[in-house]
Amino acid sequence: MTDKYAVIGNPVSHSKSPLIHKMFAEQTGQDISYEKIESPLDGFADTTAQLRGDGYKGCNVTVPFKFEAFQLCKQLTGRARAAQAVNTLRFENGEILGDNTDGAGLIADIEQNLGCKLLFKKVLLMGAGGAAHGVIWQLFNAGASIVIVNRTLDKAQLMASEFTSYGTVFASSYEGLAGKQFDVVVNATSSSLSNKLAPLPKGVFAPGSLAYDMMYGKQTPFIKFAREQGAAIASDGLGMLVEQAAEAFYKWRGVRPDTAPVLAKLRLQ
Ligand code: NDP
Repeated sequence: MTDKYAVIGNPVSHSKSPLIHKMFAEQTGQDISYEKIESPLDGFADTTAQLRGDGYKGCNVTVPFKFEAFQLCKQLTGRARAAQAVNTLRFENGEILGDNTDGAGLIADIEQNLGCKLLFKKVLLMGAGGAAHGVIWQLFNAGASIVIVNRTLDKAQLMASEFTSYGTVFASSYEGLAGKQFDVVVNATSSSLSNKLAPLPKGVFAPGSLAYDMMYGKQTPFIKFAREQGAAIASDGLGMLVEQAAEAFYKWRGVRPDTAPVLAKLRLQ
């Protein structure tokens, strides 16, 4: 029997997750279906309950429901608890298990696909929303030290205080970055969605640095700025998307798909 999965979001029509999971299923011979479900903004819990009632085995959760998904779960993985946000649900024995695969996806893309080891690297993490929360724990785990910069400084300061027990972390305003340099700059803001660039000062990219925009599918002002400023590598977030999906697929099916051919196919589209 075909096992059913889905991604819940609002909006969700742009999601590439069904295509990615279809390719994973074909590659690994798993009999699954995977669809997009747009939940009303005030109806995430009801949508999830309906999926469970309809016999779905799990789902991914995207904007804006990752924090709500966290609240819904009685059982959480360590990385989901650290992130306080959930992007993967597994329905099992009447329970919901919540996981967060975004951080593992980012690290896999940076370290394996882009060949940049994070141990002892100085990372600038831009943004203090769901995406930044989802990846910070894994950045520490990979051995990076972190500065969080956010337009609303209070949120960066709060986030830094929440994560201070995990590793070296400081909060900064954008102006406060003047004269500082980083080995890796991760754009986890939603500024690229509106084609804007957060006010990064010139000179933040150290020689040989990596610039990583979690946004994918278009040339963003951040990528353009990073190239102009001399970043050695400037990458979008498509690899992270595929890698976080592979981690979710593994969580559900116990089989790890090969991400390289899937990423290569998506790049051609
Ligand atoms: P949130 O709404 O939770 O957070 C948005 C963040 O962006 C806040 O820190 C906000 O600052 C900041 N921000 C928004 N506009 C600007 C701007 N013009 N200048 C500076 N900062 C700005 O969003 P998410 O964290 O959930 O998502 C962020 C991005 O990450 C999205 O583009 C999403 O698509 C992408 N993403 C990609 C993934 C992938 O697999 N590639 C996975 C997850 C997310 P403030 O607090 O001041 O409002």
